[in-house]
Parts: sequence; C-alpha cells; structure tokens
Amino acid sequence: MIDLQLHTTDSDGTWPWVRVLDACLAMGLKAFAITDHDTVRRRAEIIEWARSHGALAIPGIELSTHDRGQTVHLLGYFLDGPLKKLESKLAFLLLGRADRNGLIIRRLQELGIDITEEEVRKAAGEATMGRPHIARLLLEKKCVKSMQDAFDRYLGITGSAYFPKEEIPLREGIDLLHEAGAVTSVAHPGLLKRTPEEMQASLEDWRNWGLDGIEAVYPMYSAEQSALFARSAAKYGFLMTGGSDFHGDNKPHIKIGVGTGSLHVPDDLIEPLLKKREEIARAARVHGEPESLATISAR
Ligand code: AMP
Ligand code: ZN
Ligand code: FE
Repeated sequence: MIDLQLHTTDSDGTWPWVRVLDACLAMGLKAFAITDHDTVRRRAEIIEWARSHGALAIPGIELSTHDRGQTVHLLGYFLDGPLKKLESKLAFLLLGRADRNGLIIRRLQELGIDITEEEVRKAAGEATMGRPHIARLLLEKKCVKSMQDAFDRYLGITGSAYFPKEEIPLREGIDLLHEAGAVTSVAHPGLLKRTPEEMQASLEDWRNWGLDGIEAVYPMYSAEQSALFARSAAKYGFLMTGGSDFHGDNKPHIKIGVGTGSLHVPDDLIEPLLKKREEIARAARVHGEPESLATISAR
C-alpha cells in the first residue's frame, strides 16, 4: 500500500511533517509523499528523513492552478531539479493568498463575526495560509457546526465570504514543475465539475500539455469514477497516482493510507512513477543548474 497525497502543518494539515512520515512508516506503507499546498520548503528535510529511515518518502507539492475557469490542483513529485523559479512563483502566490485572506476576513466581519486577520495569521503560523485555517477558527469560535459548515456557509465557492485566489494556468504549472524536476499528476480530477465530454476534452488538453499522470485512486470516488479514471489513464497514457488527501483533524474522517477505510493505493503504481522520475530528472538536469545533480542521486 502507498499514499501519495498527504498534508501537514506546512499548509492546511494539523500534523507536523515528521509525525505524518513516522505514521506512514509505522503503517508499513511502501511509498508516501508529502504534498503541501504551494510550498516546497521541506524538500531537503524529507530527502534526509528518507535516507536516514531507508524509506521511499517523496517530497512533493500540490500546486494551485486554474483550468477552464476552475481551480485544479496539480501534484508534483520528487522535485529533483532547481527550485529557484518555482519558489519565486510560489512567493507570488503567497502574496495573493494574503490579499484574499484580508478580503475574506473583512467580509466575515461585515457579517458580524468576531474574527481578525491577526488571529488567522497566528493560526497558520509559517504555513501556506488557506481557507481551512479560517474554517478551523470559525469552528473554535463556535460560529459554525463543522469545517464543512464553514465552507457551505462562508468559505466555499457559493459561500457568503468567498473570494477566489491567485492561481497560475495549469499548462504553466506543468512546465514549472517539470523544470523543477517533478513528475506531475492532476489531483482528484473526479472532484472537478465537468460533464463527461468536458472531462474527456480536458484529459486530451492535459496530455497535449505534457501532464504525466492523474490521481486515479482517491477516497471520495465512486466505483464508476475509479473505473473511469483507470480507463482514461490507459487511453491517454497517463500514470496513475493515488492518495488519501490526509489533513489530520481538518478532515477527521480521512486516515493515512486507508482514507475513509476502504482506500487501497496499490504498490505497483510506484515502478512507473520512478521510471518517469528518471526521465524528468534528466531533462531538468539538462536545463537546470548543476546543483540538481545532488538530489537526483539522493534516494
Ligand atoms: P485554499 O487553498 O485556501 O483555496 O483552500 C483549499 C482547501 O480547502 C482544499 O484543499 C480543501 O481541503 C478545502 N476545501 C475547499 N473547498 C471545500 C469545501 N467546499 N468543503 C470542505 N473543504 C473545502
Ligand atoms: Zn489541503
Ligand atoms: Fe487538493
């Protein structure tokens, strides 16, 4: 069993990264990836942890992009290349999040809720600040019944305090992650609101843009969706990835490895992923800085 989507306190999860990695190892997972939103700050530490524990712990990212007017999360794995360009883009996205945060908080205040930007900043600490941090505060203040209630009433796309955030085009995101030596996979495509025809057209676009994989195994998929994405991966030549999307107490119904209980991401997805890694690392090395050599051999 493997788990290729895990969040920590570096974005909107509630467990620190070491606790997540230790739990994966204790469960006997064959491979696991930390994929915090819009940050790569733990890459070196995760590589070091993997080396010292002899485990296939993969540094990753879940990049916020947009495609066909919707937010699309793009997973990137390994990050064997130079990070400078990606990091400067992430810094720009972070500024956008801060602006949006201010807008959301002001609207919540107008709606009569006692909440300040300072409180949210404190709750997020060093992490990539996101709506889940605000949702959690609303829950603690008993303004909402649950995290879901916070999104339904205020923070979700139809909520009364919703504001979109700065995102880069998906196509640009794929290139950016490739240049950083990452294998790319669209996260939970089954959560996108697209007709079957639109989804097929999207998959074709994504393949043409050089996307490597799709997240074909995910806790919230129906049996039909799982079958559809497995078929689509074969049809378009995508790798399959899968993960629980663990967020600790921010998604209390989701457990590492098993999701809501029945998730099973099979070990045999690893081999094709590692093969693709070599290909992408080689390309990133050709175009990147010599420093990328060091991390390619770090396994
Ligand atoms: P942000 O990056 O600030 O836009 O927050 C995105 C995160 O919020 C996602 O990764 C989800 O974990 C969570 N989220 C977004 N929409 C919802 C929703 N409708 N219900 C519950 N959680 C949501
Ligand atoms: Zn998240
Ligand atoms: Fe996501």
